[in-house]
Amino acid sequence: MNHQLASMRLLRKHLKDHPCLESYYDTAKYIINSFRLPAFYEVSDRCNLKCEGCYYFDADTFQPNLSVRREYDAQWNNFLGNEVIKGVTMPYFLGAEPALEQQRLIVASNHFNRGNVGTNGSIFLDPEIKFRISISAWSASEADDIRLRGKSALYQALKLYQGDPRAIVLYTINSQNIAQAKDIARLCQEHGLPVTFNLWSPTKKLIEKLNNFTGNDNNFFRISTPDASLRFSNDDLQLVRDTTGQLIEDYPDTVIYSHAYNRWSTTPGPLYKLDSNNVAENCGSRIGGQFKYYGMDLASKPIKCCTAAIDCNECRLYSGGMSSHFLPLPEQIDSLEGFLDWLDIILTIGRIFLRPETDPKAFTSKLDRSSIIKAARKAISQ
Ligand code: SF4
Ligand code: SF4
Repeated sequence: MNHQLASMRLLRKHLKDHPCLESYYDTAKYIINSFRLPAFYEVSDRCNLKCEGCYYFDADTFQPNLSVRREYDAQWNNFLGNEVIKGVTMPYFLGAEPALEQQRLIVASNHFNRGNVGTNGSIFLDPEIKFRISISAWSASEADDIRLRGKSALYQALKLYQGDPRAIVLYTINSQNIAQAKDIARLCQEHGLPVTFNLWSPTKKLIEKLNNFTGNDNNFFRISTPDASLRFSNDDLQLVRDTTGQLIEDYPDTVIYSHAYNRWSTTPGPLYKLDSNNVAENCGSRIGGQFKYYGMDLASKPIKCCTAAIDCNECRLYSGGMSSHFLPLPEQIDSLEGFLDWLDIILTIGRIFLRPETDPKAFTSKLDRSSIIKAARKAISQ
């Protein structure tokens, strides 16, 4: 029996035994269906920050081409029209910094009802842009923000997006900013913004530079040294797990994260099965088939994922991690606990990437999702 068939049998059994979970499973199916055909669109090859270890401006993969930008604008509208006809259900707009190319996003808003923009939040996105806005944050301390990203970005983002229903803060945790997650959760609560977590992951180039260290530069390798980089030790991972796990409990209306995903993403060692080239075989973010990544020339790029410079061996990025959970393995859901964990992850993904305004079905109504899951767990333990 193949994995999918075995998983379906287990799902059906759990639902038969616990009909109260049927509505949550329906919501999970709706969310998964929203990601049926994703596509990545690179809308900008410029950025106003210099984050340590940036995956975009990587010496091995970044190829700027000024003439391409003008052609891009002329063709963008027709190109997107064709993408809608092809049936893309979840467009991701990324860069470098997409907020530097707002007109492209406004045009895209006329084509797609849902979508996701990954931004550093330092520039306000026009209200005509209706997509989910994921704002990357790296530090709650202004001095550390400048040290890690070249400029202070968080406080500007909080000011610009306070209470904006499109926005969610994505705190990128590294080995040096774990303790600040608490301040970030508090700040987000104070500014009426939800927050979720992403685990910083090194590029292959950065690892190479650390292994053959000859000094730093003024760009994306300013502060890392072999003895003090942003990479995680196993102890760091445990601390991340404990810290974010506690924040889920302390800030239930602000922190959008899943205990099950937290445990998975902080497990020591590679999270994926790697092929002979050290590329993750079972990562849900792998480009292939109808799932495309379009570069600044609007051509589909044959790259492994949207963060191609990252080393799969150490990758803990939320993009790959979350999307790798859409199809559960039988061993993940062979107990009711496992099934509830999986449901919890999928419902969390919906709340991170979708908006109630565009996808009301992805948001369970009055009853609190985590309370239901806790109640179901309690019922099986009795
Ligand atoms: S905001 Fe993104 S593109 Fe800009 S430097 Fe940071 S990681 Fe790179
Ligand atoms: S998202 Fe997936 S394919 Fe991309 S670097 Fe991470 S593990 Fe590798």
